[in-house]
Amino acid sequence: MTDPLAAFEHDLAQLASAHLIRKRPAVEAVEGAHLRVAGQNVLAFCSNDYLGLSQHPALVEAAQRGAAKYGVGAGASPLVSGHSDAHEALERELAEFTGHQRALYFGSGYVANIGIIPSLVGRGDAVFSDALNHACLIDGVRLSRAETHVYPHNDLAALARALEGSTARRKLIVTDAVFSMDGDVAPLREMMVLCERHDAFLMIDDAHGFGVLGPDGRGTAAHLGIDSPRLVYMATLGKAAGSAGAFVAGHATLVEWIMQRARSYIFATATPALVAEVLRASVKVIREEGWRREHLTRLIARLREGTASLPWEHPESFTAIQPLIIGGNAEALAAMTALRERGIWAPAIRPPTVPDGTARLRVSLSAAHSEADVDRLVAALRDVAR
Ligand SMILES: *Cc1c(COP(=O)(O)O)cnc(C)c1O
Repeated sequence: MTDPLAAFEHDLAQLASAHLIRKRPAVEAVEGAHLRVAGQNVLAFCSNDYLGLSQHPALVEAAQRGAAKYGVGAGASPLVSGHSDAHEALERELAEFTGHQRALYFGSGYVANIGIIPSLVGRGDAVFSDALNHACLIDGVRLSRAETHVYPHNDLAALARALEGSTARRKLIVTDAVFSMDGDVAPLREMMVLCERHDAFLMIDDAHGFGVLGPDGRGTAAHLGIDSPRLVYMATLGKAAGSAGAFVAGHATLVEWIMQRARSYIFATATPALVAEVLRASVKVIREEGWRREHLTRLIARLREGTASLPWEHPESFTAIQPLIIGGNAEALAAMTALRERGIWAPAIRPPTVPDGTARLRVSLSAAHSEADVDRLVAALRDVAR
């Protein structure tokens, strides 16, 4: 008799020796960027709650109101009876806010991407995908069975060559708008020019731009002034919007097609209507409380000034994502541990999330941080780097 679990145990031991075992700290209390974890108070720089909305009183109140009105479960998929007037209003407001004809709400960004891409392309079509795209874009591309061309990160010349060489029936470029581990922005304007030239569509994942970039936080497409019937705009709502979910927006025809075809939309129970009410309140706050973006911008500048003297590379990024590249997995983990001993939580990100040899501290800033919080981080980083 062989032990049926021996192979898994062996593989887990291998992950452990490569410093690749992941742990899930259980957070016990949250107050803005200050968390209590395992009885210790920590100042966190690991959240994607970029505007500090996850505990905003208007959003909490919307959740309570939504629960009182709709209960806490949708009971069915949206195309059966799970779609409420709250979801309907949210989609209308998201479309209007981002300047598109129509929007469709999904329960999460991962679920959105693995549904949207296969609804747009299949066998006989081609996808052109940035080498640093988020895992759920990669998975969506795989599920689509379209021919896949991965181009080097933000390399427009390579992208143009790949488009030129393709005879596929339909072509779709897929890219993060703001790259999740580097914080840099894709050259979307130039990519849209390539789309026009090669009769392609452009799908952008604005998980880290929506709410943060663009006029009133309308996102990266608005920031760069892109508007085209070839644009498939996707953004998530669990980050700057402070709650959960995602949406796709664009020309009404495209959105209707996605609603008819995206399997992860059709075959999943709708998100509770109370979440839609929370997100409606969130869009309103994103729009009205511009001071949150201004404060965040000041914090980013303050951090970059403070890290200039560190021995680690700090790549150009004007977004809330501020990576400090350390290199080795063990070294990145050691830096994270040393920060934790100083009451600061900045996550070490290792392969396969980032390329080998580029393990890093992924510092993310939020409007929930104060200038003193950033100063504390900078002092701790200097201490740890020494
Ligand atoms: C976080 C993230 C997602 C996944 O969104 P969820 O709502 O967390 O499932 C998708 N794309 C990018 C670029 C992300 O950073």
